[in-house]
Amino acid sequence: IYLQHTCYICGNAMSGGTQTINHIKAVHGYEIPSRAVGYKRPQDNDQEYVRDMSNADVLHYACPSCWFHCPEDDLEALNEHTRDEH
Ligand SMILES: [Zn+2]
Ligand SMILES: [Zn+2]
Repeated sequence: IYLQHTCYICGNAMSGGTQTINHIKAVHGYEIPSRAVGYKRPQDNDQEYVRDMSNADVLHYACPSCWFHCPEDDLEALNEHTRDEH
């Protein structure tokens, strides 16, 4: 799985969580919290996260504020998650 940080409002692909948070604040006027620094994404035994998009079978949208992610054809799920949780 490759995790693509994506704006939950307009669906723009971002290069990282911080960029996503800054984009949402600057463009859409919403402030969402950033992840606690120093915590690494927990390992998932069923899924392997890769850093290189070309090595990935699946692309998921990633939440910039927590470890949530969802399939790339489901921006609505990321949108709902962000509004409910953050
Ligand atoms: Zn946006
Ligand atoms: Zn989240």
